[in-house]
Amino acid sequence: MQRKCCECHKVLGDIAPFSDGRVTHGLCVDCLAKAMKLRIIYLKRIFGDRKRTFGVLMDKNGPFAVTLEDPWLDNQKNISCIPAGSYLCVRKQSPKFGDTFEVRKVRGRSHILIHKGNTEKDTHGCILVGKEFNFLHGEPGILESGDGFNEFMSKMRCVDRFLLKIEEV
Ligand SMILES: [Zn+2]
Repeated sequence: MQRKCCECHKVLGDIAPFSDGRVTHGLCVDCLAKAMKLRIIYLKRIFGDRKRTFGVLMDKNGPFAVTLEDPWLDNQKNISCIPAGSYLCVRKQSPKFGDTFEVRKVRGRSHILIHKGNTEKDTHGCILVGKEFNFLHGEPGILESGDGFNEFMSKMRCVDRFLLKIEEV
């Protein structure tokens, strides 16, 4: 069966039984976020090369932090950034990174977190947050990551979930 969003009619994919041509309904993550009045954070990917992807985090007031992700390598575990799109992020206590948010329901991926770090060595498919683009030991990266991450978490202190919209610019 084909699953469609009952609000915006976007196709959400096929579910069993696959031979059944009928349509069933659900809510896409954008319409769910609207219904739940979730805060929206944008991650604009502004530049990428073979080793990394740089981005900017924005809310309705404008940009507030920078990001570093892996390069796009066909969504492979641990070495690729995740596909662009809309994702529900949920607060999570990570044994390694403490209080943070997990990016949920990423196709083919799990344990995608938002956390601090400086170069692509610190990300394994995750989204690193910092305050400025710069070089660290001769490698392009993001700096003041602890401060940038704390600022992000303090923006999110009143919510336990939000909508992350990742866009390629
Ligand atoms: Zn929808």
